[in-house]
Amino acid sequence: STQEKTPQICVVGSGPAGFYTAQHLLKQHPQAHVDIYEKQPVPFGLVRFGVAPDHPEVKNVINTFTQTAHSGRCAFWGNVEVGRDVTVPELREAYHAVVLSYGAEDHRALEIPGEELPGVCSARAFVGWYNGLPENRELEPDLSCDTAVILGQGNVALDVARILLTPPEHLERTDITKAALGVLRQSRVKTVWLVGRRGPLQVAFTIKVPRPRKRLTELLLRTATEKPGPEEAARRASASRAWGLRFFRSPQQVLPSPDGRRAAGVRLAVTRLEGVDEATRAVPTGDMEDLPCGLVLSSVGYKSRPVDPSVPFDSKLGVIPNVEGRVMDVPGLYCSGWVKRGPTGVIATTMTDSFLTGQMLLQDLKAGLLPSGPRPGYAAIQALLSSRGVRPVSFSDWEKLDAEEVARGQGTGKPREKLVDPQEMLRLLGH
Ligand code: FAD
Repeated sequence: STQEKTPQICVVGSGPAGFYTAQHLLKQHPQAHVDIYEKQPVPFGLVRFGVAPDHPEVKNVINTFTQTAHSGRCAFWGNVEVGRDVTVPELREAYHAVVLSYGAEDHRALEIPGEELPGVCSARAFVGWYNGLPENRELEPDLSCDTAVILGQGNVALDVARILLTPPEHLERTDITKAALGVLRQSRVKTVWLVGRRGPLQVAFTIKVPRPRKRLTELLLRTATEKPGPEEAARRASASRAWGLRFFRSPQQVLPSPDGRRAAGVRLAVTRLEGVDEATRAVPTGDMEDLPCGLVLSSVGYKSRPVDPSVPFDSKLGVIPNVEGRVMDVPGLYCSGWVKRGPTGVIATTMTDSFLTGQMLLQDLKAGLLPSGPRPGYAAIQALLSSRGVRPVSFSDWEKLDAEEVARGQGTGKPREKLVDPQEMLRLLGH
């Protein structure tokens, strides 16, 4: 029967990893059916909730993901949190194979005193706030200070610095949320420092050119050492906002204000590099430096969480232990994206590794390593979800929300005004 020839595959998470894995499976197997489960009522993961609003071209991948979702052999089920609404063993029972692509939902803590003070927040939460991530929509960071310090020097740190320093009128026609734009309009932040433990040769941000490391170093050196021409010098002198990189500084403590109520600065240990090449480490010299500021954003990395006690998890590396996407010791279970590799790399990297996971899964299918005989797929999960009072959001439901967001943006010249309240989304869908 056709059912016997139809591998039922389940993907957990609808970010780039989930969608690229699904795309590969559908393209390379003429019968495979793929269901994508997503905990948010809306798809696309960090493409919607991470990528900066002033980088709209990066979000064009959504067009490809939408094509995948329109395949007659693919379904999207949003508003379903795996590990809470349905377990991984239940999914494995209903499908021939399960791919975990649920990203990295947590942030790494600084683990220094004062981290809990008001005025300190994670870059992850700040990014979630300006991008309308439901759990961060009420963050309202206090931007009434004149100096912000970002601890970390990766791509996310640069995004956050740019959003803090961009004149708000330049963000008006992006999909940044109305609330965030309102707060940024009142911002008094003039100076942003990006602090890193290591030096210019080790910074983690990427640029879009070949031989990026050499080019990046040249760029940094030129900017730092070249004497600006008269026009550039005048422009810099009149600039109302500024930013800078502080190298070889390791945060020791967030300093409290005199009344102890909020953050007033960061104490940094001066470091120097020891070792060569890959083994270089930043070690403290013993010197300290206090950097006054009213806002501290920690940007030392994202982190995956374990999703379900039945799934192996390496809490030290923050990944699901796997060999090329095959979860160790669990046949029929796979992973892709940030939860497979750790939270680094751009969308293109995630695409390559997701295709590879798809390839391994199809190899196993061909070799007869996956369960034989038909599997019920969504029919079984739907019954479970409905008995638990969970109402999934389909891709056509998302398209209604999408149209609503676009319509709300139209009056103000924005590509969309994001819906940020899941309850409102479900209400709009009549759920
Ligand atoms: P994610 O995109 O995080 O997707 C994971 C999905 O799983 C999410 O939708 C999540 O809601 C869902 N999920 C989580 N837990 C569950 C659960 N229990 N049940 C069901 N679903 C669940 N790359 C670029 O190329 N260009 C950029 O400009 C760029 N900017 C970035 C800016 C920021 C701030 C960040 C953090 C990253 C940026 N990246 C950028 C990197 C890019 O976003 C990642 O490479 C990519 O999103 C990783 O894909 P993923 O699918 O593994 O994770």
